[in-house]
Amino acid sequence: MAAEVTELGYVTLGVSDIKAWERFASRILAVEVRPGEDEKTRYLRMDYWHHRIKLVEDPADDLLAMGLRVAGVLEFREMASRLEAAGVPVRIGSKSEAAARHLLEVMFVTDPNGFDIEIFHGPLVQYDRPFYPGRGMHGGFRTAGGGFGHMMLNRRADFEELHAFYTLLGMRGGVEYKIAIPGLEEPVELMFLHCNTRQHTLAFGGEAEKRINHLMFEMQRLEDVGLTYDIVREAGLPIIIEPGSHANDHNYSFYFKNPSGFMNEIGWGGREPTGQSEYYQRDSYGHMPIFENMKGFMVPA
Ligand code: FE
Repeated sequence: MAAEVTELGYVTLGVSDIKAWERFASRILAVEVRPGEDEKTRYLRMDYWHHRIKLVEDPADDLLAMGLRVAGVLEFREMASRLEAAGVPVRIGSKSEAAARHLLEVMFVTDPNGFDIEIFHGPLVQYDRPFYPGRGMHGGFRTAGGGFGHMMLNRRADFEELHAFYTLLGMRGGVEYKIAIPGLEEPVELMFLHCNTRQHTLAFGGEAEKRINHLMFEMQRLEDVGLTYDIVREAGLPIIIEPGSHANDHNYSFYFKNPSGFMNEIGWGGREPTGQSEYYQRDSYGHMPIFENMKGFMVPA
Protein backbone atom coordinates (compact mmCIF):
# COMPACT_ATOMS: atom_id res chain seq x y z
CA MET A 1 0.00 0.00 0.00
CA ALA A 2 1.28 3.42 -0.92
CA ALA A 3 0.22 6.51 0.95
CA GLU A 4 -0.71 8.91 -1.78
CA VAL A 5 -3.24 11.67 -2.07
CA THR A 6 -6.13 10.22 -4.07
CA GLU A 7 -8.24 13.30 -4.75
CA LEU A 8 -9.12 16.89 -4.03
CA GLY A 9 -11.87 16.06 -1.56
CA TYR A 10 -13.11 19.46 -0.48
CA VAL A 11 -12.16 23.11 -0.12
CA THR A 12 -13.03 25.73 2.48
CA LEU A 13 -13.57 29.19 1.01
CA GLY A 14 -13.68 32.41 3.00
CA VAL A 15 -16.29 34.66 1.36
CA SER A 16 -17.17 38.22 2.39
CA ASP A 17 -20.76 38.12 1.07
CA ILE A 18 -22.25 34.76 1.97
CA LYS A 19 -25.75 35.69 0.71
CA ALA A 20 -24.34 36.59 -2.72
CA TRP A 21 -22.40 33.31 -2.76
CA GLU A 22 -25.51 31.35 -1.83
CA ARG A 23 -27.37 32.76 -4.85
CA PHE A 24 -24.31 32.35 -7.10
CA ALA A 25 -23.77 28.75 -5.99
CA SER A 26 -27.33 27.58 -6.61
CA ARG A 27 -28.40 29.68 -9.61
CA ILE A 28 -25.14 29.92 -11.56
CA LEU A 29 -23.02 26.94 -10.49
CA ALA A 30 -26.08 24.66 -9.99
CA VAL A 31 -24.66 23.14 -6.80
CA GLU A 32 -26.85 22.30 -3.80
CA VAL A 33 -26.69 24.76 -0.91
CA ARG A 34 -27.17 23.28 2.56
CA PRO A 35 -27.24 25.16 5.86
CA GLY A 36 -24.06 25.30 7.89
CA GLU A 37 -23.65 25.21 11.66
CA ASP A 38 -24.58 28.86 11.92
CA GLU A 39 -25.39 31.99 9.90
CA LYS A 40 -21.75 32.35 8.88
CA THR A 41 -21.34 28.94 7.20
CA ARG A 42 -22.93 27.05 4.29
CA TYR A 43 -22.20 23.69 2.65
CA LEU A 44 -22.19 23.16 -1.11
CA ARG A 45 -22.90 19.66 -2.42
CA MET A 46 -22.13 18.23 -5.86
CA ASP A 47 -22.63 14.50 -5.32
CA TYR A 48 -23.34 12.13 -2.41
CA TRP A 49 -20.64 13.64 -0.19
CA HIS A 50 -21.78 15.70 2.78
CA HIS A 51 -20.13 18.64 1.04
CA ARG A 52 -17.42 19.51 -1.45
CA ILE A 53 -17.19 23.17 -0.53
CA LYS A 54 -17.60 24.83 2.83
CA LEU A 55 -18.32 28.55 2.73
CA VAL A 56 -17.26 30.56 5.74
CA GLU A 57 -18.08 34.25 6.07
CA ASP A 58 -14.62 35.84 6.05
CA PRO A 59 -13.25 39.03 4.49
CA ALA A 60 -10.45 37.05 2.75
CA ASP A 61 -12.53 36.17 -0.35
CA ASP A 62 -10.02 33.39 -0.89
CA LEU A 63 -9.14 29.76 -0.33
CA LEU A 64 -8.83 29.01 3.41
CA ALA A 65 -7.97 25.30 3.22
CA MET A 66 -7.90 22.39 0.79
CA GLY A 67 -8.88 18.88 1.82
CA LEU A 68 -6.70 16.20 0.19
CA ARG A 69 -7.89 12.63 0.61
CA VAL A 70 -5.91 9.49 1.28
CA ALA A 71 -7.44 6.02 0.91
CA GLY A 72 -7.76 4.89 4.52
CA VAL A 73 -6.38 4.61 8.00
CA LEU A 74 -3.12 2.84 7.05
CA GLU A 75 -2.34 5.39 4.33
CA PHE A 76 -3.18 8.18 6.76
CA ARG A 77 -0.64 6.87 9.32
CA GLU A 78 1.99 6.25 6.65
CA MET A 79 1.53 9.76 5.23
CA ALA A 80 1.95 11.32 8.68
CA SER A 81 5.20 9.44 9.34
CA ARG A 82 6.58 10.15 5.88
CA LEU A 83 5.94 13.89 6.25
CA GLU A 84 7.44 13.94 9.73
CA ALA A 85 10.51 12.04 8.51
CA ALA A 86 10.93 14.66 5.78
CA GLY A 87 10.83 17.43 8.38
CA VAL A 88 7.37 18.73 7.44
CA PRO A 89 5.50 19.83 10.58
CA VAL A 90 2.30 17.77 10.93
CA ARG A 91 -0.45 18.19 13.47
CA ILE A 92 -2.89 15.30 13.83
CA GLY A 93 -6.38 16.71 14.35
CA SER A 94 -8.42 15.85 17.41
CA LYS A 95 -11.54 13.68 17.20
CA SER A 96 -13.69 16.80 17.44
CA GLU A 97 -11.74 18.58 14.68
CA ALA A 98 -12.34 15.57 12.40
CA ALA A 99 -16.00 15.34 13.41
CA ALA A 100 -16.54 19.06 12.75
CA ARG A 101 -15.33 18.43 9.19
CA HIS A 102 -17.44 15.27 8.77
CA LEU A 103 -14.30 13.12 8.42
CA LEU A 104 -12.94 10.07 10.24
CA GLU A 105 -9.46 11.57 10.68
CA VAL A 106 -7.64 14.72 9.62
CA MET A 107 -4.08 16.09 9.87
CA PHE A 108 -2.95 19.64 9.26
CA VAL A 109 0.08 20.71 7.20
CA THR A 110 1.05 23.78 5.19
CA ASP A 111 2.60 23.71 1.74
CA PRO A 112 5.72 25.75 0.79
CA ASN A 113 3.41 28.65 -0.18
CA GLY A 114 2.10 28.69 3.39
CA PHE A 115 -1.33 27.45 2.24
CA ASP A 116 -3.29 25.25 4.65
CA ILE A 117 -3.81 21.61 3.71
CA GLU A 118 -6.05 19.15 5.53
CA ILE A 119 -5.05 15.58 4.69
CA PHE A 120 -7.91 13.26 5.59
CA HIS A 121 -9.51 9.91 5.16
CA GLY A 122 -13.12 8.86 5.58
CA PRO A 123 -15.42 11.62 4.36
CA LEU A 124 -19.10 11.39 5.28
CA VAL A 125 -20.94 10.10 2.19
CA GLN A 126 -24.74 10.32 2.29
CA TYR A 127 -26.34 7.83 -0.08
CA ASP A 128 -29.66 8.61 1.61
CA ARG A 129 -29.47 12.15 0.22
CA PRO A 130 -29.21 12.29 -3.58
CA PHE A 131 -27.60 15.44 -4.97
CA TYR A 132 -30.31 18.04 -5.62
CA PRO A 133 -29.00 20.71 -8.02
CA GLY A 134 -29.69 24.36 -7.29
CA ARG A 135 -31.17 24.78 -10.78
CA GLY A 136 -31.96 22.58 -13.77
CA MET A 137 -29.07 20.54 -15.21
CA HIS A 138 -28.83 18.09 -18.10
CA GLY A 139 -26.55 15.78 -16.14
CA GLY A 140 -24.51 15.99 -12.97
CA PHE A 141 -20.98 16.86 -11.97
CA ARG A 142 -18.17 14.47 -12.86
CA THR A 143 -16.62 13.67 -9.48
CA ALA A 144 -16.22 9.88 -9.33
CA GLY A 145 -12.60 8.73 -9.36
CA GLY A 146 -11.15 12.15 -10.01
CA GLY A 147 -12.22 14.26 -7.07
CA PHE A 148 -14.66 17.12 -7.40
CA GLY A 149 -12.53 19.20 -9.76
CA HIS A 150 -9.26 21.04 -9.94
CA MET A 151 -7.82 24.21 -8.58
CA MET A 152 -5.17 26.62 -9.84
CA LEU A 153 -3.29 28.46 -7.12
CA ASN A 154 -1.09 31.54 -7.27
CA ARG A 155 2.26 30.49 -5.92
CA ARG A 156 4.51 32.10 -3.32
CA ALA A 157 7.26 29.45 -3.51
CA ASP A 158 9.26 28.29 -6.51
CA PHE A 159 8.36 25.31 -8.68
CA GLU A 160 11.22 23.15 -7.31
CA GLU A 161 10.02 23.50 -3.72
CA LEU A 162 6.39 22.94 -4.65
CA HIS A 163 7.25 19.93 -6.78
CA ALA A 164 9.29 18.36 -3.96
CA PHE A 165 6.54 18.92 -1.40
CA TYR A 166 3.66 17.62 -3.53
CA THR A 167 5.79 14.63 -4.63
CA LEU A 168 5.97 13.72 -0.92
CA LEU A 169 2.16 13.67 -0.95
CA GLY A 170 2.29 11.24 -3.88
CA MET A 171 1.30 13.70 -6.59
CA ARG A 172 3.04 13.77 -9.98
CA GLY A 173 3.45 16.26 -12.80
CA GLY A 174 5.40 19.38 -13.65
CA VAL A 175 5.48 22.40 -15.94
CA GLU A 176 3.05 21.86 -18.84
CA TYR A 177 2.72 25.36 -20.31
CA LYS A 178 5.24 28.00 -21.35
CA ILE A 179 3.12 30.83 -22.68
CA ALA A 180 4.69 33.86 -24.33
CA ILE A 181 2.95 37.04 -23.15
CA PRO A 182 3.58 40.22 -25.17
CA GLY A 183 5.66 42.63 -23.07
CA LEU A 184 7.10 39.92 -20.80
CA GLU A 185 10.68 38.77 -21.38
CA GLU A 186 10.20 35.21 -20.09
CA PRO A 187 7.25 32.98 -20.99
CA VAL A 188 4.75 32.39 -18.17
CA GLU A 189 5.17 28.86 -16.83
CA LEU A 190 2.33 26.87 -15.33
CA MET A 191 2.74 23.67 -13.29
CA PHE A 192 0.16 20.87 -13.11
CA LEU A 193 -0.07 17.98 -10.65
CA HIS A 194 -2.23 14.86 -10.76
CA CYS A 195 -3.10 12.00 -8.42
CA ASN A 196 -5.96 10.13 -10.13
CA THR A 197 -7.84 9.91 -13.44
CA ARG A 198 -8.22 13.69 -13.64
CA GLN A 199 -5.45 15.11 -15.83
CA HIS A 200 -4.65 17.63 -13.11
CA THR A 201 -5.95 18.22 -9.61
CA LEU A 202 -3.72 21.13 -8.56
CA ALA A 203 -2.05 23.72 -10.73
CA PHE A 204 0.30 26.56 -9.87
CA GLY A 205 0.46 29.75 -11.87
CA GLY A 206 2.20 33.04 -11.36
CA GLU A 207 2.11 35.40 -8.43
CA ALA A 208 -0.99 37.33 -7.46
CA GLU A 209 -2.58 38.66 -4.31
CA LYS A 210 -5.08 35.84 -3.79
CA ARG A 211 -4.07 32.26 -3.03
CA ILE A 212 -6.58 30.90 -5.53
CA ASN A 213 -6.72 31.66 -9.23
CA HIS A 214 -9.64 29.39 -10.18
CA LEU A 215 -11.75 26.45 -9.13
CA MET A 216 -12.86 24.05 -11.86
CA PHE A 217 -15.89 21.74 -12.00
CA GLU A 218 -16.33 19.18 -14.77
CA MET A 219 -19.78 18.45 -16.16
CA GLN A 220 -20.97 15.01 -17.21
CA ARG A 221 -22.60 16.52 -20.29
CA LEU A 222 -21.42 19.13 -22.76
CA GLU A 223 -24.90 20.72 -22.69
CA ASP A 224 -24.25 21.90 -19.13
CA VAL A 225 -21.20 23.91 -20.22
CA GLY A 226 -23.37 25.63 -22.84
CA LEU A 227 -26.25 26.16 -20.42
CA THR A 228 -23.98 27.59 -17.73
CA TYR A 229 -22.36 29.90 -20.30
CA ASP A 230 -25.79 31.29 -21.25
CA ILE A 231 -26.79 31.69 -17.58
CA VAL A 232 -23.52 33.47 -16.74
CA ARG A 233 -24.01 35.87 -19.65
CA GLU A 234 -27.67 36.52 -18.79
CA ALA A 235 -26.66 37.26 -15.19
CA GLY A 236 -24.13 39.79 -16.50
CA LEU A 237 -21.18 38.13 -14.74
CA PRO A 238 -17.78 38.94 -16.25
CA ILE A 239 -16.48 36.21 -18.58
CA ILE A 240 -12.70 36.07 -18.19
CA ILE A 241 -11.83 33.39 -20.77
CA GLU A 242 -14.19 32.48 -23.60
CA PRO A 243 -14.97 28.79 -24.34
CA GLY A 244 -12.14 26.71 -25.75
CA SER A 245 -10.14 23.52 -25.29
CA HIS A 246 -7.06 23.09 -23.11
CA ALA A 247 -4.02 21.42 -24.65
CA ASN A 248 -3.24 19.56 -21.42
CA ASP A 249 -6.51 18.23 -19.96
CA HIS A 250 -8.57 18.54 -23.19
CA ASN A 251 -11.47 20.06 -21.27
CA TYR A 252 -13.78 22.26 -23.29
CA SER A 253 -14.33 25.05 -20.78
CA PHE A 254 -14.79 28.73 -20.01
CA TYR A 255 -13.98 30.98 -17.05
CA PHE A 256 -15.95 33.66 -15.24
CA LYS A 257 -15.63 35.77 -12.12
CA ASN A 258 -17.39 34.76 -8.88
CA PRO A 259 -18.55 37.07 -6.05
CA SER A 260 -15.15 36.70 -4.33
CA GLY A 261 -13.29 38.03 -7.38
CA PHE A 262 -11.51 34.82 -8.36
CA MET A 263 -12.59 32.55 -11.21
CA ASN A 264 -14.77 29.51 -11.68
CA GLU A 265 -14.07 27.27 -14.66
CA ILE A 266 -16.79 24.99 -16.02
CA GLY A 267 -15.67 22.25 -18.40
CA TRP A 268 -16.45 18.96 -20.07
CA GLY A 269 -14.59 16.13 -21.75
CA GLY A 270 -11.33 15.99 -19.79
CA ARG A 271 -8.77 13.29 -20.48
CA GLU A 272 -6.63 11.26 -18.08
CA PRO A 273 -2.96 12.05 -17.36
CA THR A 274 -0.75 10.81 -20.19
CA GLY A 275 1.90 9.57 -17.74
CA GLN A 276 4.77 11.36 -19.47
CA SER A 277 5.66 15.02 -19.32
CA GLU A 278 5.10 17.30 -22.27
CA TYR A 279 4.56 21.03 -22.62
CA TYR A 280 2.46 23.39 -24.67
CA GLN A 281 2.75 26.98 -25.87
CA ARG A 282 -0.97 27.51 -26.40
CA ASP A 283 -4.34 25.83 -26.11
CA SER A 284 -5.94 23.68 -28.80
CA TYR A 285 -8.51 26.30 -29.81
CA GLY A 286 -10.58 29.13 -28.36
CA HIS A 287 -10.02 30.24 -24.75
CA MET A 288 -9.76 33.85 -25.87
CA PRO A 289 -8.99 36.01 -22.84
CA ILE A 290 -11.21 39.02 -22.23
CA PHE A 291 -8.40 41.38 -21.24
CA GLU A 292 -10.56 44.12 -19.70
CA ASN A 293 -11.94 41.57 -17.19
CA MET A 294 -8.64 39.80 -16.66
CA LYS A 295 -6.44 42.12 -14.64
CA GLY A 296 -4.71 40.43 -11.72
CA PHE A 297 -5.50 36.84 -12.68
CA MET A 298 -2.50 35.51 -14.60
CA VAL A 299 0.33 38.00 -14.44
CA PRO A 300 1.31 40.30 -11.59
CA ALA A 301 -1.17 43.18 -11.63
FE1 FE B 1 -8.38 25.00 -14.99
